[in-house]
Amino acid sequence: MKKFKRVLVANRGEIAIRVFRACHELGIRTVAIYSREDQNSLFRTKADESYLIGQNKGPIDAYLDIDEIVRIAVKKGVDAIHPGYGFLAENPEFAKKCQDAGIEFIGPTPEMMIAVGDKIKSKIVAVAAGVPVIPGVEKPIATDEEAVSFAKQAGYPVILKASAGGGGRGMRIVRDERALLGEYRMAKNEAKKAFGNDDIFIEKYLEAPKHIEVQLLGDKHGNIVHLYERDCSIQRRHQKVIEFTPALSISTAQREAICGDAIKIAASVNYRGAGTAEFLVDKSGKHYFIEMNPRIQVEHTVSEMVTGIDIVQSQILVAEGYALDSDEIGIKKQSDIEARGYAIQCRVTTEDPKNDFMPDTGKIDVYRTGSGFGVRLDGGNGFTGAVITPYYDSLLVKCTTWSRTFEDAIRKSIRAVKEIKISGVKTNTDFLINVLNHPTFKAGQCDTNFIAENKSLTD
Ligand code: ADP
Repeated sequence: MKKFKRVLVANRGEIAIRVFRACHELGIRTVAIYSREDQNSLFRTKADESYLIGQNKGPIDAYLDIDEIVRIAVKKGVDAIHPGYGFLAENPEFAKKCQDAGIEFIGPTPEMMIAVGDKIKSKIVAVAAGVPVIPGVEKPIATDEEAVSFAKQAGYPVILKASAGGGGRGMRIVRDERALLGEYRMAKNEAKKAFGNDDIFIEKYLEAPKHIEVQLLGDKHGNIVHLYERDCSIQRRHQKVIEFTPALSISTAQREAICGDAIKIAASVNYRGAGTAEFLVDKSGKHYFIEMNPRIQVEHTVSEMVTGIDIVQSQILVAEGYALDSDEIGIKKQSDIEARGYAIQCRVTTEDPKNDFMPDTGKIDVYRTGSGFGVRLDGGNGFTGAVITPYYDSLLVKCTTWSRTFEDAIRKSIRAVKEIKISGVKTNTDFLINVLNHPTFKAGQCDTNFIAENKSLTD
């Protein structure tokens, strides 16, 4: 076992704070890095030490400078780096360079990341493990004809996805052959500009599916467990807005099958650390694997609330070498993991729902939040006097509630979100409350088209 004394978080905002908290509870000293634009951000003050990076790089590139981050980590005597989500979290080169510098990367090995980190490769791994995937091509499309011939064989609609896309970006739905060629060219151009990589692939588009994903946790000794599923169907432009667990729209048998398939995929690559296997469930109830995220996810909180397992602490302990069944982690076997009650996470963002969810910026004059029994807040950069800049994602605070019943968890969420009073920047709180009050949400039956089809949610 290699006990960490100092951990650096190669990230910012709420996830940096989340990891610092886990470290402090484990008695580990924390190191933050921050860009010039983040000079006055809250997360910096939550770490024991913080260092400016990427002075001439710009707000995003500062957090992407592998060599500089590793250099600082070495200089400051850091034992391990936690990558959070986004930025370098799924970059095998970063994991490798940490390893080469003698620093533990808190996550899977570079090889595992390469095996499952890419959407196409992870589908190949899933097929080999006997898990159903959405019909699609096995490599990026090379010519127009290839796209047309795939769509002919699979049937319309199809979806074009940029290999390098993520966070719901770089996807186009195509409903007939006439649209396909134009959309394909546009997707390629757009991907080149946005991601510097114009590889596009194509798969069958499922109409109004549910997005169900499974939280996984593996150690360095070959043990893998799942922490059940999350329903992340409430999305806007393929981006998650509200997540909850357990999913109400699937049966016990479906839950067991989906969680079992997630384990099959993870086991086939001997996966370690925290990860998520994402699935879509179609109207007939069939599930298909779509991708694996080899990192912590924004919505991990809901799984923590129902299982009582601290996923971020577990990531750190696994990286230190502890087995899942050690006293430190305390997961003796899969059947010990019980999901109790219901948890819902709302992503409170600085977006204006009345103006097509445009991110808003400026100084926060008033910042008040709700708390109380069963309410958990994971804050990013919210405080009175904080300046919200246009450089980063608009997540302000995650409001997660827990209760014995789904109805009560909804009531708690509504109460807690209503207590969040922010002025100076616009937020989506009214919109979140409208979703929480909607009968389809209350029945746990929203599909991924729910927000697009209910325009009155922004009223
Ligand atoms: P990203 O990595 O950008 O988040 P994902 O592949 O995880 O992209 O997909 C995000 C969302 O896009 C899914 O939850 C779903 O709503 C939608 N989506 C992706 N692929 C399909 C598909 N083949 N059919 C229908 N919806 C899809």
